[in-house]
Amino acid sequence: MMLTDTFGREHNYLRISLTDVCNFRCLYCMPEDVSFMPSNQLMSHEEIKAIATEYVKLGVTKIRLTGGEPLVRKDADKIILSLSKLPIELTLTSNGFLVDKYIEVFKQAGIRSLNISLDTLDANKFFSITKRDNFQLVWNHIKLLIENGFHVKVNVVAMKGINENEINDFVALTKDLPLHIRFIEFMPFNGNHWQGANVLTYKEILEQVESKFSILKLKDEVHDTAKKFTAYNHVGTFAIISTITEPFCAGCNRMRLTADGKMKNCLFSSSESDILSAYRNGDDILPIIKSNLLSKFKERGGQFDEAYFSMKADEMQNRSMVKIGG
Ligand code: SAM
Ligand code: SF4
Repeated sequence: MMLTDTFGREHNYLRISLTDVCNFRCLYCMPEDVSFMPSNQLMSHEEIKAIATEYVKLGVTKIRLTGGEPLVRKDADKIILSLSKLPIELTLTSNGFLVDKYIEVFKQAGIRSLNISLDTLDANKFFSITKRDNFQLVWNHIKLLIENGFHVKVNVVAMKGINENEINDFVALTKDLPLHIRFIEFMPFNGNHWQGANVLTYKEILEQVESKFSILKLKDEVHDTAKKFTAYNHVGTFAIISTITEPFCAGCNRMRLTADGKMKNCLFSSSESDILSAYRNGDDILPIIKSNLLSKFKERGGQFDEAYFSMKADEMQNRSMVKIGG
């Protein structure tokens, strides 16, 4: 069975947020006035497994766990191990703080690739972005993952006035380390003070890299959100995720479940379907999943168009990033 929307896009990739709680306070993600969801509103680990199983019946072959910070959840190990029994590729996005505690769980679960977020290589700047003094720890954990044979992608939110001068430092890391850097255009969410003027664009990132390195374009797959490159003679790669200036909605295969069990068919969708309440009421959730997908817009949740520059983050109808699950 396949989940196909009205634009003929087949959906086989589900991102599940385990919690909206996080041990970091990234300025682009976590609103200052954040309050967390009460735990009885969150999907339990049994509910996550049961609901994920229904998506797998509908054709999902890849699940990414995210949050908030997925690894702060006390039963994250149980969730990872139980989902690993499904016939899917399982992966995870994390801020890296706790990954050393989970290396064995990742191995047992057959996880091969992880995304770790790191926006700067400067410890002071790391503090000003995340409000936590943990640069060295996160960096050590990235190296630990590499030493343990994981494929490590590093997510870097590219922001003017913040880390725009570090783009080539990140690319330089890929000379000797098998790291896969992904520059992400800064996206608007409620409470994140986004302004069009702070978006470091795909074009600007590429111009900077080309001024210092000779680069090769790598082949992108149809569902890739990232445009991939490598610098000549470098072991790692880099990529740019151009959500804002060159959206990749045409090949979208993603669906999301928030930690409180609401389905979103797009990161920017303003509407949600309450899968968890339906599941708790004993209702069949398959028709709800299908009808949610049929309401998917062609591009960016139907919320903003080419004039991104004049968008106001607080006028969008959406949750904050930390409550959606990135
Ligand atoms: N806590 C984990 C982490 O930081 O990787 C997982 C959740 S986080 C919401 C997932 C990804 O979304 C991170 O790579 C983060 O950098 C990215 N992100 C958060 N807010 C963003 C924004 N406003 N624009 C672009 N990317 C954003
Ligand atoms: Fe936490 Fe990740 Fe958001 Fe930073 S980006 S506040 S680490 S959820």
